[in-house]
Amino acid sequence: MEVMEQESEEQLIYFGPQYPLSLVPDLGEDAGLYMEFMMKSPCYNAIPTSCKLVVFDTTLQIKKAFLALVANGVRAAPLWDSANHCFVGMLTITDFINILHRYYKAPMVQIYELEEHKIETWREIYLQSSFKPLIHISPGDSLFHAVYSLIKNKIHRLPVMEPISGNILHILTHKRLLKYLHLFGDTLPRPRFMQKTIQELGIGTFRDIAIIQDTASVYSALEIFVERRVSALPVVNEMGQVVGLYSRFDVIHLAAQKIYNNLDITVHDALKLRNLCFEGVLMCYPYETLEVVIDRIVKEQVHRLVLVDDDQRPRGIVSLSDILQALVLTPAGLDRNSL
Ligand code: ADP
Ligand code: ADP
Ligand code: AMP
Repeated sequence: MEVMEQESEEQLIYFGPQYPLSLVPDLGEDAGLYMEFMMKSPCYNAIPTSCKLVVFDTTLQIKKAFLALVANGVRAAPLWDSANHCFVGMLTITDFINILHRYYKAPMVQIYELEEHKIETWREIYLQSSFKPLIHISPGDSLFHAVYSLIKNKIHRLPVMEPISGNILHILTHKRLLKYLHLFGDTLPRPRFMQKTIQELGIGTFRDIAIIQDTASVYSALEIFVERRVSALPVVNEMGQVVGLYSRFDVIHLAAQKIYNNLDITVHDALKLRNLCFEGVLMCYPYETLEVVIDRIVKEQVHRLVLVDDDQRPRGIVSLSDILQALVLTPAGLDRNSL
């Protein structure tokens, strides 16, 4: 029997045997096809011929940096330490979330730290407990290694750095890597496991799904992002049905609209600030094939699909990292739990 437990107002935990719990999908005999392809392809091949790269000096004020991300339509920027002439890290929307979560006090109270601190001040405070040097990759390294690095380090931005000049050429993401595989994998024979269903393959996360009620505050969504480290939350109505998706990326709209001083607004209202090319939530069903799911996720250019049952209740998340893990790392014997 399946059980839905209401843990707190925002969080539902699903226990039940209906969907596979295995994190090690068995892809069968042609399992290694994409792994081998990614091992043979250098990162250089996945770099677009032209792209925008925004770099921040660590002496820049935090607030200006996030407004500059918005103004330039980019999601992250490498950080340049001009005193030591090197790149020292990344600034991403997760950092914006961590800053808001740490310093927000009450509606309409200015967040002094966000207004006044420089990036380097924040890094000194924040990195005290979790110092992370810049994780990067060389253009000649394989795309297999890029997938490994993104998943092992639990990051979403991997700069490709030219080893001699130290210049950053591009920032690789899961999206770019799956798109590359999708495009050029077409030259390979189509593996049979692509016709198996998500349920059969068990690709994704199917338990302890972090969700949020549409009536909950944005601050409570930030709390879940910080505590659970998930990249997005299915948004549910009072019946527990999926009615939206609030992703870390959406938090940047608070900066764009300069309303980060009121995190008491509801997730429902925050979602209206988005400017999306599609309506509603992009979902999948356990009986859909891996091929259908990959085609949808690549076409819609999102980081994950919400797996729902026939009553639109959230049963899982199929994220780009789950797909890349299954297609590229697991066939090499690299289980997510052992990375
Ligand atoms: P987002 O999904 O919001 O873009 P990430 O998951 O990539 O953010 O980032 C998580 C944390 O890791 C952030 O504090 C970010 O600054 C840091 N980070 C991201 N990419 C790198 C990297 N290549 N090297 C070092 N730190 C990174
Ligand atoms: P990123 O490119 O930074 O990984 P995301 O894919 O998480 O960003 O989010 C980009 C936008 O797409 C956000 O506005 C987010 O809410 C939306 N989005 C992402 N996944 C879904 C989904 N499954 N259904 C609906 N909207 C989504
Ligand atoms: P991502 O950060 O989206 O690349 O995902 C990293 C891992 O977290 C993947 O295994 C996802 O399936 C899982 N995940 C993403 N979002 C959620 C969520 N809301 N609840 C539970 N797990 C999630």
